[in-house]
Amino acid sequence: MSRSGAFCPRCGDEIPDHERERPSVAGQHDPDSVLCDACYFEEFDLVDAPDRIEVRVCAQCGAVHRGNRWVDVGAEDYTDIAVDEVSEALGVHVDAQSVAWQVAPEQVDKNTIRMHAEFSGVIRETPVTEEVVVPVKISRQTCTRCGKIAGGSYASTVQVRADERTPTDEEAERAKEIAHEVVDAMEATGDRDAFVTEISEPEAGVNIKVSTNKIGMKVARQITTELGGTFTDNETLVTEDTDGNEVYRVTYAIRLPRYRPGEVIDPEDGDGPVLVRSVQGNLKGTRLATGDSFEASFKDENAPDARRLGTDADAERTTLVAVEDERAVQVLDPETYESKTIPRPDYLDTDADEVPVLKHREGLHVLPDES
Ligand SMILES: [Zn+2]
Ligand SMILES: [Zn+2]
Repeated sequence: MSRSGAFCPRCGDEIPDHERERPSVAGQHDPDSVLCDACYFEEFDLVDAPDRIEVRVCAQCGAVHRGNRWVDVGAEDYTDIAVDEVSEALGVHVDAQSVAWQVAPEQVDKNTIRMHAEFSGVIRETPVTEEVVVPVKISRQTCTRCGKIAGGSYASTVQVRADERTPTDEEAERAKEIAHEVVDAMEATGDRDAFVTEISEPEAGVNIKVSTNKIGMKVARQITTELGGTFTDNETLVTEDTDGNEVYRVTYAIRLPRYRPGEVIDPEDGDGPVLVRSVQGNLKGTRLATGDSFEASFKDENAPDARRLGTDADAERTTLVAVEDERAVQVLDPETYESKTIPRPDYLDTDADEVPVLKHREGLHVLPDES
């Protein structure tokens, strides 16, 4: 009879050949791997679980405190968070194979979830199962970001104003949306310093306070790119930081363009009214008498001197009575129902029964038919 001469260091019994000759899995990780099966299973724990887990969540935004910082996890509710945290905290024996597990949360009260975790695996060719119960305490706190927002902390203000007018409701809404979009995009990259502190709407426009100067700059750029206009920045020294560096708060002052797309203006250059098409960069539009395009010179940028005559929203549909020649058509005046001869722009469809017209203090013009 062949003798291996290997003895269990715990009980002193000789270790049978079939135990010793079993292909070792990863036994070197585990000091108990030299034990006989009987001693080994006496000590064996498939799962290493903490006695309890405390999960710190922000009651405002749902962020979770992990390690030494707050993390946005996008969890739907605290149960999901508790499942994640428990899964992270549980350790399975390194030598176990074919490990399967499931976890079932049991809501004990508003702030306590009891997590039942069931594990199965194979060790030393023996199937093992283990159930552990880990109480999870949800502790509701305020994360640093929500604390700063509540404290009104901000580094930058974006002031949205308009040239010789107040911003329209659409412009104000869009400006606010843009601020949130810029912040959301930065947040999505894990930046927890990005937030909108406060939005106020004084009569003259919109004021948006944001957490950093970089965000203020981005928001101002995006608003003027989309809505036209220009902005300036003004620094105000607010304090020195702990390293003696000067800390500035920057105000980005936006001036939206004087005219809006859809407005009809008369640049008073003798060629008649213009329907404004675009105010991004310099003002571009269409002459209502001819259909020719109009572009303000660079010097005028988006605000040439002009009279406001109305907007395309004021247009009314009226009957196209007759096409007189290359330059003139007859339409019914929408107020008096008299036939009137007016200029024929090249965008007019001569087969149309009805055309949109704008009656204004300088006469009557056909507008482009956008319907
Ligand atoms: Zn033993
Ligand atoms: Zn928070």
